[in-house]
Amino acid sequence: MDDEWICGRLGEDEPWVLGAVNPPVFENSLFTFATAEELGEAVRNEDERYVYWRGTNPTVDLAQRKLAALERGERAKCFGSGMGAISATISSLVSAGDHVLVLGAVYGPTTQFLRYLEKFGVTHTHVGDLTTGDSAIRASTRLLYFESPSYMAYAVVDIAEVAAWARERGLVSVMDNTWSTPLFQKPLTMGVDLVVHSLSKYIGGHSDLVGGVVVGPSRLIRPLALTEYQLYGAAMSPHDAAKVIKGLRTLPVRMAAHQERGLAVARFLADHPAVRAVNHPGLPSHQGHAIATRQMSGFSSLFSIELATESRDEVASFLDKLRHFRIGVSWGGFESLVNAPALSTEESVRATMGIPVGLVRLSVGLEAADTLIKDLGLALEGVGRLA
Ligand code: PLP
Repeated sequence: MDDEWICGRLGEDEPWVLGAVNPPVFENSLFTFATAEELGEAVRNEDERYVYWRGTNPTVDLAQRKLAALERGERAKCFGSGMGAISATISSLVSAGDHVLVLGAVYGPTTQFLRYLEKFGVTHTHVGDLTTGDSAIRASTRLLYFESPSYMAYAVVDIAEVAAWARERGLVSVMDNTWSTPLFQKPLTMGVDLVVHSLSKYIGGHSDLVGGVVVGPSRLIRPLALTEYQLYGAAMSPHDAAKVIKGLRTLPVRMAAHQERGLAVARFLADHPAVRAVNHPGLPSHQGHAIATRQMSGFSSLFSIELATESRDEVASFLDKLRHFRIGVSWGGFESLVNAPALSTEESVRATMGIPVGLVRLSVGLEAADTLIKDLGLALEGVGRLA
């Protein structure tokens, strides 16, 4: 079963699809039953039976089957957002008194959620790499959470090594694989226990969807589908599931185009005198390039650069001069986007995370690479003169 077939066809030859080229969207909030007995049986097994939209839905199920197959996982559960998936997953694995170990830089709101859990007696520690892992671990540590490539710095870790380290210490490993999509990286095959994604990025691909998913073995997915999914209520709607299915149809060709354009832009920037660093794991100069080429089959087009400046105003003026990159949050869509932590993150938070003033994040879209390179070249003129 190849990934293109999973994206385009898996689950769509079944009788309920009636041969439709796009599967029906089940818009009903509830399902009815012939007898009270049947309803009771369905409610008792609500993670697998159709009862009410907040629990299960056939269109959402189809998206889940495809995402599970792409990640080579047993089961997937889709959520109303990536944070819905992340918060439900972490909550399902910890209780009061437990501790979470976080490896490397992770998405800001994930850290915020871990801080929020402190009010329920769940603590966490960030470590930069595994050399300090053993000194940070406690008897109460339950899970290891990480991203690779990591948030903003796009640092790469050896996923198989991290997963084995966690397993040897009895920890459940959870990895955010949004950057790579399941096409370019399959962490479950490297020993990770659970993979989470924001579907709002490349998988949706059209910046018209917010969604999330967690993929892994049934023994870990079933409990969270029955409890956290139902009780937190971050349910995916069938309309959004239809957008996920549509996004998957073109994901392989879009990712190939994103990869090509992203690398062309990154190479141009790496040679530019106004750019101190380019954090793109596809460049041979990147810290984790060797590991990345071993464990990934491709590179997406989200990366960061460091402008040769210490001036927040100069960063703002660089962003303002861009005509083809639009200024905005999020990433992974058809449109090129630019953002800078110096302008959108509190000074103290940026400093704690070790993010330099000149850091700029680029999400390279599907425009022609030459157009984007020209745009960046013009905006970079004069950058660094104030330094
Ligand atoms: N993980 C990563 C790496 C992200 O960048 C984001 C959002 O930007 C999320 C998770 C959260 O996803 P969502 O915005 O769909 O809740």
